[in-house]
Parts: sequence; C-alpha cells; structure tokens
Amino acid sequence: TYQALQIQKDDAGYRCTLQTLDDSALPEGDVTVQVDYSTLNYKDGLAITGKSPVVRKFPLTPGIDLAGTVTDSQHPLFKAGDQVVLNGWGVGESHSGGLAQKARLKGDWLVKLPTGFTPRQAMAIGTAGYTAMLCVMALEKHGVTAASGDILVTGAGGGVGSVAIALLAKLGYRVVASTGRLQEADYLRQLGAADVMDRAELSAPGKPLAKERWAGVVDTVGSHTLANACASTKYGGVVTACGLAQGMDFPSSVAPFILRGVTLAGIDSVMAPRAVREAAWARLAQDLDTVQLERMTREVGLAEAIGLGAEILAGQVRGRVVVNVNG
Ligand code: NAP
Repeated sequence: TYQALQIQKDDAGYRCTLQTLDDSALPEGDVTVQVDYSTLNYKDGLAITGKSPVVRKFPLTPGIDLAGTVTDSQHPLFKAGDQVVLNGWGVGESHSGGLAQKARLKGDWLVKLPTGFTPRQAMAIGTAGYTAMLCVMALEKHGVTAASGDILVTGAGGGVGSVAIALLAKLGYRVVASTGRLQEADYLRQLGAADVMDRAELSAPGKPLAKERWAGVVDTVGSHTLANACASTKYGGVVTACGLAQGMDFPSSVAPFILRGVTLAGIDSVMAPRAVREAAWARLAQDLDTVQLERMTREVGLAEAIGLGAEILAGQVRGRVVVNVNG
C-alpha cells in the first residue's frame, strides 16, 4: 500500500482527499517509481480544487511533477535504482501523478535526475522552474541579451516568476518584478529584482502602444497584463507567454507586432520533447543559484498540499512549495 492524494468526482461531488491505496490502484506504465518529493504548481491547484477541468479521469492522483527512485523498469533507458524526474506529459491530469508515495509511468516521460540537484531541489524547481528556464531560453534564442535592456517578470511572487527572477539576475539581466504583493518587495529584491512595480499598472485595459520599456518579458499572467506588456515592449523586443493567472484571454492588438517588430513567443512545458527538457534542466544546473532556490521554497506534507490548492489559485503562495510525500 501507499499514501496518495486522490481526486474523486461522483454524486458526492468533486473532492481531493488523502488515501491509503493498494498497489493495484497504480495505473499502467513501464516504470514504477518510489516518489521522494512532489510539488505544488498552479495546475495542481486547479486539479485539487476542480476550479478548471484539468483532471480528465476519476479517481486520479494529482501532481504534475515528481522526483524519485525507479523500483521496477521495462524501459530501456531506466533501471531499478535510477533517480528520475517527471514534469508534465498529462501526468496529474489524465494519468495518476506525483502527489503520492508511488507512481507508475511511461519511461518515455522521464528524465534522469539532473546532476547537481537532489530530488528535493529538483522538485523545488518543478514544472514552474523548468518553465521559467524555457522562457529564459526563448528570450536568448530571439536575441535578447543583458545589454538589451530591462526584463519584466509578471506574477513575480509566484513559482515561475520567482525562479525567472533568480535566473535572469544571475545571468546579468536587469529585472523589473511586477507583483500584487508589494509587501514582498524585499523578497523579490533578494532574489535579484532591480525594481519592483505594482501589478495594478498592468492589469487594467490599456492602449495598443505604450511607452517602450522592456527588452524582454516573462509573462505568467496573461489577459490585460500580457496585452500591456506587449504594448510597452521596446522595438524588436521579445515577450514570452507561459501563464494565465489573470486570465486565458489576450485582449491585445497587432500594433506591437507590426509597428515595433515585437516577438510573442509561446512557451509550453507539458509536451516539450525530451531534448528540450534535458537542455532546460542542464541550464538550470548551471544557472540557478541553489541558495536562491532554497530562499523561495517551503516544504509541506501530502495532507497540507490539499489546502494549498485553493491558496495557490488565489495568488497567496509565495515562490515554490515542495511536497515531502513521506513526511
Ligand atoms: P503561482 O505560483 O500561483 O504564480 C502566479 C502568480 O501570478 C501569483 O503568485 C501572483 O503573483 C500572480 N497572480 C495571481 N493572480 C493574479 C491576477 N488575478 N492578476 C494578476 N496576477 C495574478 O503559479 P505558477 O505555478 O508560478 O504558475 C504561473 C502561471 O504559469 C500559471 O498560470 C500556470 O498555469 C502557468 N504555467 C504554464 C506552464 C506552461 O507550460 N505554459 C508551466 C507552468 C506554469 P503576485 O502576487 O506577485 O502578483
């Protein structure tokens, strides 16, 4: 048996509870993993609360991330004893996930635990941090350098935002952190933000073009914030869009794209191919300061993760949460 969060949806409603499950509850897969740590991402909040229909199958264990040790493998790339990491691929949505002591998965979804990180550190990074790295890599790919000018990070106090700030600052960029929690300004400056701004400046409907401010943007918020970020991006600048904390809509115009040559780069972590994942994890090992990572991380147990689902959606969780599934 093993402990797991389980989401059920039936006549009694939608609910997420901590359960003791028999190993026969594990789904199909060619690799079985003893989980050490999982995490809590925005999408896990959606799954735990049922606020958006991200869970496609019931009952299901949530958790889009896990780090652990292979106990059994039929996959050529993995053998018992290997330390592995999983991010995305629909795990925690349509296949039971990481918020459990055991998981059974497709080996094709796994990557080896990146050298330089403990399982706990890999989960402190999690999908949020790996996505932040994908955003930074997209800025670089489109030619943004530290000399290009200021980089705006929206949703700065959240998981993707916090990791993005630490990465960009270490790489020498001047980062402006946009937050609804100005009381966290000291935290954001400690992570490396040069400036902190009130997100209210970006969250209301704005003009098609505004004063040119950003050489690059990491946007985790979407909606008017993304539209305003595009409108205030400098000539030739790059906006990476990865999130929807404010909304799924994008009430913008083509003006920034056709008059300023702004590039809008979409970022997806869930279906990113293995080579992209491995490149992002290798860059994290190189460019993420583990002291900063610890500064933005708190640890909870499985039971506590349930209540945090609603908190993360409300924007009340600072930085990253690791879940010690054996704690
Ligand atoms: P998170 O920790 O909850 O961070 C989101 C942050 O956005 C909050 O901390 C808050 O920061 C800000 N925010 C919340 N509600 C807002 C609102 N109504 N208006 C403006 N800002 C708001 O979540 P996360 O795990 O970092 O994920 C961030 C976003 O990226 C989510 O939308 C998630 O779905 C998305 N994501 C996408 C991918 C992908 O593959 N594309 C991967 C990972 C995450 P402040 O308090 O500092 O303002």
